[in-house]
Amino acid sequence: MERLHAWGYSAPFEAEARGAPGEPARVIEEQRELYRVVTDSGARAASVTGRLRHEARGREDFPAVGDFVLVEGPAILRVLPRRSVLRRKEASAGSFEAQVIAANVDRVFIATSCNEDFRARRIERYLAMVRESGAAPLVLLTKCDLGADLPTLVARAEAAAPGTPVLAVSAATGAGFEALAARLPPGETAAIVGPSGVGKSTIANRLLGREEQATAGIREDGRGRHTTTARRLLRLPSGALLVDTPGMRELALIEEAPAFPEVEELAAGCRFRDCRHESEPGCAVRDAVDAERIESWRRLEREAAFHARKHDQRLANEERRRWKRISKEAKRHKKR
Ligand code: GDP
Ligand code: ZN
Repeated sequence: MERLHAWGYSAPFEAEARGAPGEPARVIEEQRELYRVVTDSGARAASVTGRLRHEARGREDFPAVGDFVLVEGPAILRVLPRRSVLRRKEASAGSFEAQVIAANVDRVFIATSCNEDFRARRIERYLAMVRESGAAPLVLLTKCDLGADLPTLVARAEAAAPGTPVLAVSAATGAGFEALAARLPPGETAAIVGPSGVGKSTIANRLLGREEQATAGIREDGRGRHTTTARRLLRLPSGALLVDTPGMRELALIEEAPAFPEVEELAAGCRFRDCRHESEPGCAVRDAVDAERIESWRRLEREAAFHARKHDQRLANEERRRWKRISKEAKRHKKR
């Protein structure tokens, strides 16, 4: 069981696979329902069986990068239960189905660079998403060589993400990379999320110890390939695993996870169930929680409400179009 363990296969998954038909494997690449999996005997191309397709309740049930699966030859029979799932809103028109970007990710680094506006709210949003996924979040302050006031930035990041480790790194100088490596143990799976331009690919390249990670596919046979759109799982020289997918950049909040667990918990003690913690009598939150944090909570709530409204509007529009079409067809039938 050598090779698959090097790809993060561990006891909980072994327990799930025991006695089931098929050979355990991990999905290390996905491109439009075509997969590349690795088993103890090596890497191979694979696709899902008709049965898996038939039984899938939605796209979430299809294999994703990071999934442990059971295979028989080139056929993926089953996806083993996931320990964590990173999702994003489906970008394509009309559909609001969640899309799985990566499964079984242990840690997610939320990258924010030292030279841009430090936005606590964005860290909070990413934090909510990571918590929702089941992975452990960390904050990565990138480009720390740029002469920013680091202690202040670290303090602000810690305030925005209480209890979450904050690391400052520079992919240019290598500063902080030892601490980063310590957070990337062999056999564990990590991902770096954050907006474009904060230095995610540069960090990945430095960790990989090679260039052009964004354009050259890295295969077991060592041959480069053009796979700019693939979602992949890379093995770092250290033995840690790193999710590499363009979708990571577009990660968005899809559910209102409790980014403010203490607010939510205390709110149970408020007199009014829909308390905004502003000036309502009998508010249990206002006295206990920092005003700035309550304001952040309120912003996130507003945003979630906005998305929910947009979603409802979209459904209403679709429904209206559907009825228009049906009535048009009905009229056509009458004429005949
Ligand atoms: P991504 O979009 O998050 O993957 O960001 P990139 O890795 O493509 O980096 C965006 C820009 O920031 C590039 O021009 C990099 O050269 C630059 N950059 C990345 N890391 C560092 C760093 O540690 N220090 C400095 N000064 N610049 C960096
Ligand atoms: Zn209240």
